[in-house]
Amino acid sequence: MIAGALDQFGRRIEYLRISITDRCNFRCAYCMPLAGLPWLPREDILSYEEITEVVRQLAPLGVSRLRITGGEPTIRPQLTTLISMLEKVSGIQDIALSTNGVKLPEMAESLKAAGLDRVNMSADSLRPDRIREIARRSLAFSPIDAALAAERAGLGPVKINTVVMRGINDDELEDFARLTLEHPWHVRFIELMPVGEMAGETFDRVVPSDEILARLARIAPLSADAGPARGNGPAAYYRFAGAPGSIGVITPMSHTYCGDCNRVRLTADGRLRTCLYGDEEVSFRDALRAGEPLAPLYASALATKPREHALLQMKVGGLRALSEVGG
Ligand code: SAM
Ligand code: SF4
Repeated sequence: MIAGALDQFGRRIEYLRISITDRCNFRCAYCMPLAGLPWLPREDILSYEEITEVVRQLAPLGVSRLRITGGEPTIRPQLTTLISMLEKVSGIQDIALSTNGVKLPEMAESLKAAGLDRVNMSADSLRPDRIREIARRSLAFSPIDAALAAERAGLGPVKINTVVMRGINDDELEDFARLTLEHPWHVRFIELMPVGEMAGETFDRVVPSDEILARLARIAPLSADAGPARGNGPAAYYRFAGAPGSIGVITPMSHTYCGDCNRVRLTADGRLRTCLYGDEEVSFRDALRAGEPLAPLYASALATKPREHALLQMKVGGLRALSEVGG
């Protein structure tokens, strides 16, 4: 195994998140305007060959784990082709997918066959009418069925990400947490971040993780836990005694978690970003299309990776939609 390249603070960078599209079949109010965003022109978006070439050049520099994200990655045609191309790159040990889950029931088996290892699924409600209100799309969809389909296909451990919003879905915290009593799923509660249409109301809507944990502890005692074996990322984990699954909290708003950050991101149009929330980025696409090697650009990008994000110091609305930067 190749040791990951180090950033300016000595953090080993082994994890690349790759956004393959800025488009989506949902319009979650905390992410995307109802009318959508100005979509990237197709020619600006990296082809699957170009994405694979980026990975081929970064793998010898220590990148060994990949996550495919977006926008909604399952709506880009031939996703299985990309997965099987990435799976063949020497040094890549783990490929995960972030999805809203709508297409999982039909795609889980073929994604697994192509070489996908596991999925993270977003689910902000378990109630059909509320799913429609939050996603602002009337697609027939059951998050539980989607998670079961992923599990049956061998794409576990399934992680379910829930953005908690006071007065919108926080009355379902306990229902989500109880899933971990029955299933080996890792339910992760994410604090709402100030983006787009909901940016102005974020601070009224955020439910801090300490409050979430205090509420859940009323169901049964919760103990700190190691969480899933792979890909813990920025979550802190807990478990109800004897439960097959765990509960995670991701706290960009109430606690920063950047000290151990081991990731960089590639946007759909080929910009390498070293921090989700910062503006430091370099165009890998332009370098690739000019036939230049990526290693020197990568080294200088890691040399400026910030120590931690400045989310709380940002002006409201200063954060770009996560669908644009590959959340
Ligand atoms: N479409 C896929 C999905 O929803 O999982 C992948 C892309 S989405 C941008 C990645 C993650 O970002 C999701 O878990 C979503 O809930 C989260 N996200 C988007 N906007 C957010 C915000 N304003 N605050 C917190 N999380 C957000
Ligand atoms: Fe789409 Fe994911 Fe953004 Fe929701 S959070 S609009 S599913 S990209």
